[in-house]
Amino acid sequence: MEITLVQGDITEQRVDAIVNAANSSLMGGGGVDGAIHRRGGPEILEECRKLRAARYGKGLPAGQAVATTAGRLPARWVIHTVGPVHSTSEDRSELLASCYVASLRVAEELGAGSVAFPAISTGIYGWPMDDAARIALDAVRRADTSVEDVRFVLFDRTAYTAFESRL
Ligand code: ADP
Repeated sequence: MEITLVQGDITEQRVDAIVNAANSSLMGGGGVDGAIHRRGGPEILEECRKLRAARYGKGLPAGQAVATTAGRLPARWVIHTVGPVHSTSEDRSELLASCYVASLRVAEELGAGSVAFPAISTGIYGWPMDDAARIALDAVRRADTSVEDVRFVLFDRTAYTAFESRL
């Protein structure tokens, strides 16, 4: 597997699948989730609604992942995963690692060879960037997957530098 880092906007990535740091409602939100739905168009939200109704009445649990098509985005699929909210009283690292592993498993089921990830949980969910970078890179490196190309798309310089120093 090749791991690459880019600074930029995940909605612009030409890969088979991009990963969305969704919230458990799957009904859209701010941050990267908002950007994906804005750029991808209403088709993605429509599929999310159906998934919610059919399979996730209580919402998608943290650490799990599910795919939709990607509407108008250059990618073919969006894999929605729910990161854990960062906590200082409880170690939720396993759940964060699980977002990456579960997303790669879904990608493999789709036959996706290339996958782009944002830095899950590091925005609204408050995870410190250095720690999130360590967990993300360890999880992806250890994953037993047929996905060949993993790209981390870091939105700003600070995020890019954190991932770069960990890689
Ligand atoms: P979470 O709720 O999991 O914290 P956020 O969307 O708030 O999710 O933030 C996750 C990370 O995604 C943050 O580092 C944020 O800067 C970054 N981000 C926001 N928009 C984009 C985008 N268009 N492409 C890539 N990363 C983005």
